[in-house]
Amino acid sequence: MEKIDCHFCTHDGGEILVANSVLRVIAPEEPEFPGLIRVVWHEHVVEMTDLEPSQRSALMQVVCQVEDLVRKIMNPHKINLASFGNFVPHLHWHIIPRWQDDAFFPESIWGKKLRDNSEDLLNGRHQQAELLHAALKECFISE
Ligand SMILES: [Zn+2]
Repeated sequence: MEKIDCHFCTHDGGEILVANSVLRVIAPEEPEFPGLIRVVWHEHVVEMTDLEPSQRSALMQVVCQVEDLVRKIMNPHKINLASFGNFVPHLHWHIIPRWQDDAFFPESIWGKKLRDNSEDLLNGRHQQAELLHAALKECFISE
């Protein structure tokens, strides 16, 4: 499988909050999207169906664990789960808290920007995201 120029083969992709032998949970640098978390499979695979069924389950278990903490700590109106890999075809999931007043809602965060957010609003959500990161660093993920 091609690894050349693959960002997730050559970079962590952000601050590693928690990891096991097969995957990592990272906080990427996304100033516009506080609380956005990514779960990255360590090995270079492209699609969910490149994994064994038990590996798929283990991955989604962690995605849901992250979603649960994002909901509890960030209290968003909606969670967006996404896996594209069009730019970086190395299996990863985005867990994205969404609020009705965020800059893109109800578009996806890759869609059309619909409004500006005040610095106060964003700062408040970044403070919540810090709590989320701390909680993820403390959480246990099974193998
Ligand atoms: Zn890769």
